Amino acid sequence: IWNQCLKVIRQEVDDEQFKTWFSPIVPLHLEGNTLTIQVPSLFFYEWIEEHYVHALRKAIVQVLGKGGRLDYSVIVDRGDASHHPLAMNISTAKANNGDRGKLQEKQTAPVREQEGGSASLRPKRKAKKIPDEYRALLEETELNSHYTFENFVEGDCNRLARSAAFAVAQKPGVTSFNPLMIYGGVGLGKTHLVQAIGNYIRKTQEEKIVVYVSSEKFTSQFIEELKNNNLQFLTNFYLLIDVLIIDDVQFLAGKEKTQELFFHVFNHLHQKGKQIVMTSDRPPRELKGLQDRLLSRFKWGLTADLQQPDFETRLAIIQRKLQNEGISLDAEVIEYLANTIDSNIRELEGVIVSLMAHSSLNRRPIDMALAKEVVQRVVQKQDELPHEDIEVGIDTIMEEVARYFGLSVEALKSKSRKKEIVVPRQIAMYLCKEYTNFSLKSIGYHFGGRDHSTVIHAVQNISELREKDADFRLYIDQLLDRLRMLKQS
Ligand code: ADP
Ligand code: MG
Repeated sequence: IWNQCLKVIRQEVDDEQFKTWFSPIVPLHLEGNTLTIQVPSLFFYEWIEEHYVHALRKAIVQVLGKGGRLDYSVIVDRGDASHHPLAMNISTAKANNGDRGKLQEKQTAPVREQEGGSASLRPKRKAKKIPDEYRALLEETELNSHYTFENFVEGDCNRLARSAAFAVAQKPGVTSFNPLMIYGGVGLGKTHLVQAIGNYIRKTQEEKIVVYVSSEKFTSQFIEELKNNNLQFLTNFYLLIDVLIIDDVQFLAGKEKTQELFFHVFNHLHQKGKQIVMTSDRPPRELKGLQDRLLSRFKWGLTADLQQPDFETRLAIIQRKLQNEGISLDAEVIEYLANTIDSNIRELEGVIVSLMAHSSLNRRPIDMALAKEVVQRVVQKQDELPHEDIEVGIDTIMEEVARYFGLSVEALKSKSRKKEIVVPRQIAMYLCKEYTNFSLKSIGYHFGGRDHSTVIHAVQNISELREKDADFRLYIDQLLDRLRMLKQS
């Protein structure tokens, strides 16, 4: 039956897609007119449902008739490497009648022998022996054991990348995600996620040689061995690897010779069915200074991005972190942190760590006042500002602007549309945006929960007025003077 279906599907999709997405499917059983097929992962299931639902429906209807149904059995692991993977059966009405059928979790039961089950259930094989002369190289590529899937909080911002990474970790070199390219801005979890792949494989498939290397390290190894006239040694080492994880490939830009070595290693490993995982701070099409032949290979597999964490994910990350440290905080403080630090997870962690440090050094509880102090310090330390940084926080700016105009801070936060309030409010927003490092969103949040477009509007308005209107220039100059004085005192 499934073979008949495959014939229909083959006419609907091209060869490459067919090979990638349909050959790994295993037909399980037929009950009445419901065919159950097994797919290797939840990600796989989602992908098929999203992209090939028409082909599937057509096949089922042609082979099983109008009442034909398709059920999936998905090998699922909930991301916790210490748990057994679960087989999850998903019934979907979609392949059948085209509705956005609701997913139904029919049953969950442990699987043991199934292909695709966690390798941790297999008898452990002995680690492949790496010749001693390579030890030094191998030691340069250590993994941080904290970077696991368990410690990686899943959210909308990272779901696709996480599932793809997990699929690769379970079956390195076997999925069609080869290479797997994860991209995203700084501090969004690229290194964590790809090291999680490495840690998972080391734990579950000990016989595999996993190497994690940053692109800078790779480059310096290359230069070193070139100097020693020993490039072959380095090449030989890389050709031994089963799983190569190379971080921040954007740093290979412009390094032609290093790219040549990488190209060689890449081709060799890929051809042997070894897994390659890469990260980059931007999508492949924007990677300038990388050879086209290399870029075109990056596209062979799967490219998935990590986006800025949404509010829920930020909350979850803070909570997870606090839980790991055995600390509890007021909900108000947690929410404040999640709202204020919204661009980058590294920054969020930095704030939590310094909160704990301050609290224990000064024997002071972590309350709102301490949180605000610390946030201000950490947010400002982050990167060099192109403009003057007056090193005061949003609260101080609000207080000063309110005092200057004879208003209360509450009024600035209020919904009032009165001109006497709107203008000072906009000035305060403008000062926050131009003279501190807080994001638009974070500023909006402090001003009574307004959204970032309100802040943009205020900044534009006040910038124009500052240029055109002498009174305005005066207001702002005087306010800035006051704020600078506060900074010194
Ligand atoms: P990148 O390599 O993208 O610059 P990192 O992987 O170094 O970012 O992540 C920065 C920090 O944030 C790390 O300490 C990492 O553990 C943490 N982090 C990132 N994403 C998550 C997540 N989804 N859940 C938990 N911690 C995360
Ligand atoms: Mg990184």
